[in-house]
Amino acid sequence: MSQPETHTLVLAACRAGKPYPIISAEYGVPRGTIGYWVHQDRRSRGESAPPRPSACPRCDGTPLAHEAYSYLLGLYLGDGHIVSKPKQHHLSVTLDDAWPGIIDATETAMRTVMPAYRTGRAQRTGCTVVKSYSVHWTCLFPQHGPGLKSSRRIALQPWQHQIVGAHPWALLRGLIHSDGCRVTNWTVQRGKRYEYPRYLFTNKSDDIRQIFCDALDAVGVAWRVTRRAGCAYNISVARRDSVALMDAQIGPKY
Ligand SMILES: [Zn+2]
Repeated sequence: MSQPETHTLVLAACRAGKPYPIISAEYGVPRGTIGYWVHQDRRSRGESAPPRPSACPRCDGTPLAHEAYSYLLGLYLGDGHIVSKPKQHHLSVTLDDAWPGIIDATETAMRTVMPAYRTGRAQRTGCTVVKSYSVHWTCLFPQHGPGLKSSRRIALQPWQHQIVGAHPWALLRGLIHSDGCRVTNWTVQRGKRYEYPRYLFTNKSDDIRQIFCDALDAVGVAWRVTRRAGCAYNISVARRDSVALMDAQIGPKY
């Protein structure tokens, strides 16, 4: 393909609203070049750049997708991390490669909550880090701070309580998808095998376990603390009716 031809096709794709990364991959043109071509094209037609898409629900009042936010909050409290330093700002959630559906759901939630910013993935041994690049993630997750989450106080702000109160199942799904699991224990009695499914949530932070238990209380799911080596890191949901509720709303990881 000749360069003028590529130039025309790339600009047509941009006008059609195709994302730059996809155009870049399709035509083998660097993203920076695409941006420059679009800028030149607008200038040649006397157009100014369109207003930047709204950026942050906390800073400029962009509507926030509450259910997706509640789910993402659960993922963040479980396995999330925010990097916030000069020239480097992103939210990342590290997820086990065994559950590709959860990796997809995480990226979708990031895009739904912060549609103006790009997301990406990085492969690690046995897991995938899903990232969204924005300076505003600290606005949405003010729990960000130095050190491990388990070594500092984690308290939800009143506006977060409101969202979680309206969407407790989304929060629980996020917490289970990151730091929880559904396991099946079994015993044999009089030659017959009985299975006991249950949900486990494991987190070293007393505050995060409390947030998990408060949400379980809100939806009427019974739980108890199970101790491992004397430490109360695990919350177990084992009562049959409670497991049925969890199965209807969350289910096994996927
Ligand atoms: Zn902000």
